[in-house]
Amino acid sequence: MTKRGWVRENIRKMSGYVPGEQPGKKKFVKLNTNENPYPPSPRVLEALISEGTVDLRLYPDPDYGPLINKASKVYGLPASSILAGNGSDELLSILTRVFVGEKDRVVYPSPTYTLYETLVSIQGGEPVQVPFPDDFSLPENISAQKGKILFLANPNSPSGTFVPTREIERVAKKFHGIVVVDEAYVDFAQDSAIGLVAKSENLVVLRTLSKSFSLAGIRLGIALAPRWITQEMKKVKDSYNVNRMTLAAGCAALGHISWMRMNVKKIIGTRKRLTAGLVSLGFSVFPSRANFVLARIKGQRLEGLFNELKKRRILVRYFDTKRLHDCLRITVGTDEEVSALLKNLQKIMKKRD
Ligand SMILES: *Cc1c(COP(=O)(O)O)cnc(C)c1O
Repeated sequence: MTKRGWVRENIRKMSGYVPGEQPGKKKFVKLNTNENPYPPSPRVLEALISEGTVDLRLYPDPDYGPLINKASKVYGLPASSILAGNGSDELLSILTRVFVGEKDRVVYPSPTYTLYETLVSIQGGEPVQVPFPDDFSLPENISAQKGKILFLANPNSPSGTFVPTREIERVAKKFHGIVVVDEAYVDFAQDSAIGLVAKSENLVVLRTLSKSFSLAGIRLGIALAPRWITQEMKKVKDSYNVNRMTLAAGCAALGHISWMRMNVKKIIGTRKRLTAGLVSLGFSVFPSRANFVLARIKGQRLEGLFNELKKRRILVRYFDTKRLHDCLRITVGTDEEVSALLKNLQKIMKKRD
C-alpha cells in the first residue's frame, strides 16, 4: 500500500473546500467574500483588550455561560436551545458528524454554499443536490426527498434570494429528518426562521457574527435548536471549541445590537444603489436579501470580466460552473467601493463593445 492508501477512501477522492481569495496586505477593493465593510462595535475591541490582559492562562468556560445568556435574550430561546461554535462552519461540521454516517443522504438545493458538499463527503455520506429553478425559489417537492439532513442557506449564497419563512415551516413539517436553516445573511433580510425553532422537533437555525456583526475574523457561530439536538451536538464538539477572546468579543457584540442594525441599514441602502447601477450596465440582478448580489449577463461567460476587474484591483467572486459561469457575485461594500466597481465595470464594458 502506498502512503496515500492509508488515507480514508472518501477523503482521498474529495478535493476539499476552496474558500474565496484573501489577498493579504495587497490593496484591493475586496468584494469577494461577503465581509462587512464597516468595523465592529468599539465595545468589541474594549472587551478583547480586557480579556487578553486578564485570563488567557485559563481554559475558557466550556458551556460559555455569559455568551449563551446574551444570545438567549437576543434570540428569545432558552439557554438549553443554544450552542456556540468556531464560526457557523464548525456548527455545520458538528451537525454532519452527529447525523451523517457512511452512505447517508443529505439533501440541499443547488447551487448553494459548497461547504455542505465537502462536509457530507468527509462523512462518506451522499450529497443529494436538487437544482433550484431559474428564479431560485424552493424546488418543488424537496421535502419529499429522503435524507438525514436538509440544508437550506437562507438567504441563499450565491443567489442572495430568500425563501419565505412560511415555506420553511411547511418543509420542516414534511421532511423526515433534520432541517438546517443556515441564516448567515439573515440580518440583511430582516426576517428569520428562529420563531419556528420552539415549535418544531427537527429545525435548526444557524447564525454567525461574521457578516452582519463585522466579526469574520473572530470566528463565532450560534446554533438554535431543540434541546434534544443541542444535547447530541455537545457530545461531538470539542470541550473548548470557542476560545476566550471570541467569547468576550461575542458578548460585547450581542450586547450592542443597535451598532449591527446601523451597519445593516447602510448596507441595504448601498445594495439598492449597486443593483440599480448593475442593471443600467445591462446585468440582470437576482433580488437580494443579503449583503451581496448575483449579477448575470445571460449566456455570456464572465470570467474575462472578473479578470479585468482583478487587474484593476477589484476582487469579486466568479464560479466556473455550468449554472454560474455567466454570473458574478459581488459583495456590497461601502458607497465608495461600489462606485469604484461600477466605474470600472463601465470602462471595461465600453472598451469591449
Ligand atoms: C459565510 C457563510 C457561513 C460561514 O460563517 P462562519 O460563521 O464565518 O463560519 C456559513 N454559511 C453561509 C451560507 C455563508 O455564506
